[in-house]
Amino acid sequence: MKYDALVVGSGPAGSTTARFAAEAGAKVLIIERRAEVGVPVLCGEGISQKVDSFNVLEGKRWIATKMDGARIFSPNLTKITLAAEYAGSETGYVVYRDIFDQELARGAVKKGVEIMLDTCAVNLLKKNGKIAGVKARHFDKDLDIEADIVVGADGVESRVGKWAGIQTTLKPYDLETCLQYTLTNVDCDSPYCDFYLGKKIAPGGYVWVFPKGNDTANVGIGILASLSESGLAEKLLNKFIAARPELKKGKPIRVLTGADPVAKPIESVLDNLMLVGDAARHVDPITGGGLMTAIEGGKYAGETIGKAVEQGRFDKQTLFEYEAIWSKAFGKKLLRNYVAKEILLNMEDKTLDMLADSLKDYKFEEFSTLSIIKALVTKHPSLLVKLTPLMKLARA
Ligand SMILES: Cc1cc2nc3c(=O)[nH]c(=O)nc-3n(C[C@H](O)[C@H](O)[C@H](O)COP(=O)(O)OP(=O)(O)OC[C@H]3O[C@@H](n4cnc5c(N)ncnc54)[C@H](O)[C@@H]3O)c2cc1C
Repeated sequence: MKYDALVVGSGPAGSTTARFAAEAGAKVLIIERRAEVGVPVLCGEGISQKVDSFNVLEGKRWIATKMDGARIFSPNLTKITLAAEYAGSETGYVVYRDIFDQELARGAVKKGVEIMLDTCAVNLLKKNGKIAGVKARHFDKDLDIEADIVVGADGVESRVGKWAGIQTTLKPYDLETCLQYTLTNVDCDSPYCDFYLGKKIAPGGYVWVFPKGNDTANVGIGILASLSESGLAEKLLNKFIAARPELKKGKPIRVLTGADPVAKPIESVLDNLMLVGDAARHVDPITGGGLMTAIEGGKYAGETIGKAVEQGRFDKQTLFEYEAIWSKAFGKKLLRNYVAKEILLNMEDKTLDMLADSLKDYKFEEFSTLSIIKALVTKHPSLLVKLTPLMKLARA
């Protein structure tokens, strides 16, 4: 078995990388340890409508609801609304993540990508000290699969980067532990995704309510692992739901637990190796959202693979084009939001309330960290010193 590129993982990052690489002429195989693409779902299922511009999803089967914007609630429930007219392309969809992943994989297959399910990468295959593919287990069979480029699209628990010697360990400070119920029989058909902040609501994270239509919503909590303890997420999420008449008669039809990296991006290329999506820590450190960057980064990775195959060069220098492109496209934003995460973590609830109060009537030109900082500094010049590092990064 010999391929130009072997992609480990059939999530959004893996399928998108594979699709664009195949479109550019590469022979590509995806291996996936699960028995079904996209199942089980481990996601809040919210994504920006910017996804439309990548043309990687056909039809509308993957969309549960189209949202008009987002609302952020401070600890005392002061509300900031980021409505469609201000949030631009950042308003989003709530999706059916299983169908979403399967549609991305279907798109890749249509471009010529091969997929093997129930196939778990267990190590890198090396020849003369160089990465030359992957050792995998397919049902009860051991396989050596050769490839010029191995792509680690293996998510938050990524092992591919680690096997190659990249520092992938996540500190508890850089990891959100999450619990989510999909509740049915709830009264929340509002066109907004809601986020609730506060140390007593979700230490170092937030509670989200994403309506899915048909009296159903994803209601979840993320808590920074360094501030979490056994049973805390369940206790706080149950308390949140019990206090809300629109949610408390709801019953779960799905429950999930998972972890979300809220770290800085890591090194993403070596000779014969690339990392994409969660494996490369391409996740917004404030929101924990990684679907959009998985798709955007996957496109850049796939296109770079296409060029590398054309040139017959698979060294780090050639593959670095991918890192240069993602750094410019969204790397700076991720670093900026990492600094913003640290500032937010150090804010007391009453400071958050004060900030929310001063932003509640603000008309945002766009939904971005920079627009929020600008609004804050206009209202509270005293915050300038605290927010200066962010301002510098935002303008860089
Ligand atoms: C509770 C929760 C809620 C979230 N909510 C949102 C949200 O609302 N919006 C958003 O944008 N992001 C959200 N995220 C983050 C989002 O789910 C990820 O950023 C996204 O899935 C990243 O895609 P990926 O392709 O990099 O990785 P994944 O989707 O995790 O895909 C990795 C794939 O690799 C496979 N794999 C792993 N190891 C191996 C191996 N050794 N061999 C073969 N296959 C392997 C896995 O089975 C999996 O299919 C959430 C995360 C969590 C945990």
